[in-house]
Parts: sequence; C-alpha cells; structure tokens
Amino acid sequence: MEITKENRKWLDEMGLSHPIVIAGPCSAETEEQVLKTAHELKKTDTNVFRAGIWKPRTRPGGFEGVGAVGLPWLQRVKEETGFKVTTEVGNANHVELALKHGIDILWIGARTTVNPFVVQEIADALKGVDIPVLVKNPVNPDLPLWLGAVERFKTAGISQLGVIHRGFSTYNSLHYRNKPKWHLAIELKKEFPSLPLILDPSHICGRRDTLLDVSQTGLDLNYDGFMIETHIDPDNAWSDAAQQVTPAQLSQITDDLKIRQKSSTKEEFQRKLTMHRKELDLIDGSIIDILGDRMGIAKEIGKLKHSENVAILQSSRWSNMLSKMVEDGKEKGLSKDFIEEVFRAIHVESINIQHKV
Ligand code: PEP
Ligand code: MN
Repeated sequence: MEITKENRKWLDEMGLSHPIVIAGPCSAETEEQVLKTAHELKKTDTNVFRAGIWKPRTRPGGFEGVGAVGLPWLQRVKEETGFKVTTEVGNANHVELALKHGIDILWIGARTTVNPFVVQEIADALKGVDIPVLVKNPVNPDLPLWLGAVERFKTAGISQLGVIHRGFSTYNSLHYRNKPKWHLAIELKKEFPSLPLILDPSHICGRRDTLLDVSQTGLDLNYDGFMIETHIDPDNAWSDAAQQVTPAQLSQITDDLKIRQKSSTKEEFQRKLTMHRKELDLIDGSIIDILGDRMGIAKEIGKLKHSENVAILQSSRWSNMLSKMVEDGKEKGLSKDFIEEVFRAIHVESINIQHKV
C-alpha cells in the first residue's frame, strides 16, 4: 500500500509555520474546565484542541470519561476559539456521535489499535466520510499492527491520515511511562515517508519534567508535530494528572524547543545531519542494551556449564556461528572482515564472563 502526499493534505493545507501542536486535557471533565483550558490555549502555539470524551482505562473503577454530554462542550470550543477539535473514538457508536457533533479530527487510542476487529468496525463506520484519522501506536511494540490499522482506514476510503507515537507499555522503565522505542517510529517513517508523524510526549513521559527533552528528540527526528496534554489545573485533573501541564507551561516547552528552519540549503544540511546523528545515537543505545542482554545470557550459560563441569569453549559451535554471521552480514552489505572482528570481540568477552562465574 502507498501513502501519498494526498494523505497528508489535511496537515499541509493548514499552512503552519511550525510543527502542528495538538493540546488540551487528557479528559473533558466539566464544561468550565474545557472552555477555560481552550481559551488559555489561544495564547499558545496550539492549532488543534484535544479532549478525551470516552476514556479507555486499563483497570475498571477509574474515571471513564464524561461521555456524549461532553461533545457539545467541544462544539463550543470550536465556536468560541476557532480551534479544530479532536477526540478519541473506540467504537462505531463513538464515531456516529462524534460526527454528529462536528468533531474535526478523530484519533484511535493505543488500546484500540491492538484490535483489528475494532479498527475495522471503526473504519467501516467511517465509510464515505472524509475526516482525518490519527492512529496511535498499539500498546505493544508491534509495527505491523500499527501499519495494519493505518491500512484498514486507507482501504475503507479514509484519505486524510496520520499517526501518533505515544510509546509502548513496559513494566520495568524508570524513566518512561511508555518506552519510546524510537526505532519503530523511524521504521514507520521509512515505510510511509508522507504519513504525518506526531509525537505524544505526555504518554511517553508520564510526568512533566521530561516532556521538553522527549519533544526535542521528536523535533530532531523531524516529526510533524506534537500532542501534549494540557489542563487548566493539572494537579487536580481527573486522569493523568502527573503528566499534564498548564497552557503557560506548554508555551514554555514550545518556546524552548530548538526548531530548525527548513529554509536555506545549509540549514537543510544541518537539519538532516542532526536527524541522522540522533538516529545513530538511538541505534548505538540499542546496541549497548542488546550487548548487555547478550552478556547476561552468557553468564547463565557459564553457570550451567560450571554446574555440569563442561568446557567453556565449544569450538565447533563457535565456527558454525561465525560463518552464519558472515553470511547474514553479507545480505546487509557488511564485509566478512568487519563481522569477524565484531563477533570475535563479543565472543572473547562472553568467554571472559563465563570464566568469572
Ligand atoms: C489519551 O490520549 O488520553 C489516551 C488515552 O492515550 P493512549 O491511547 O495513548 O493511552
Ligand atoms: Mn491521557
């Protein structure tokens, strides 16, 4: 399937001088909270107002959204501020209600993208309607599932498309609520270069103090914009309080972001160089992670061999492994010498670790 410039018309036609900013509360709570937040956001770079009307909660008992009574509040936001408005839809009924109330853009939540039946149901409910649909990544790091959801909308005739990167569920992250796993978004961008890619640092960070840093990475990687949860009184928000910022804090973030202009060729060069360097930094970080995991396994093997008094060096396994690596490397255009050098170093370190057990 091909995603073309036509599919990003909704964004290009906005003619923005900066990456798109979608802001507003995690949840619509009261009419006053929604309208006050929207009016404050008029003083910022915000282009589209967001608010969750139906909230998919991981566990029952939390605030599940005000439901359809909140839709007229978003209509008032449109009338009073001129913002386009967007909300999450999770089934065909939500689609029908959102369309009836003039919602301009729909987004598909991370817990919905995981389910092709529901994605298809929503896509079918949208047949014949040309409204932009933004697909959040699924909660699990599965790129085909994310792409598959986009393809279902495209196949159903939705021509205005985009994706939102909100990170991936994890049990063991100190820094992130949802790990960014940037390489997945970079892969997606390689597959569909014209598809607008929007960063949701709020759900990646889960806290306020790291939003700027994560947003800067998104900017350096050439994302098309940001969705940032913004609330008139974040500490007292009914959902996701820790990660929401005030409209004034949002302005601070967008002011602090170092935006690299696309105008001159020299700047274009700098921008591309920065983007590629950032990509390299992220890949190098993953290499370190993977090497750490590999050495952890080597240690386990060392313990096993020790318990059975088996020799550490198994020469036949090592030479088979090396020839396979050389073959695999060839397919990726990597030279035999390079692969041998890298894997010798890894092998030596593995043996040292096994010796220490
Ligand atoms: C949200 O944007 O408030 C939301 C529920 O997001 P996600 O689907 O990314 O968890
Ligand atoms: Mn939220």
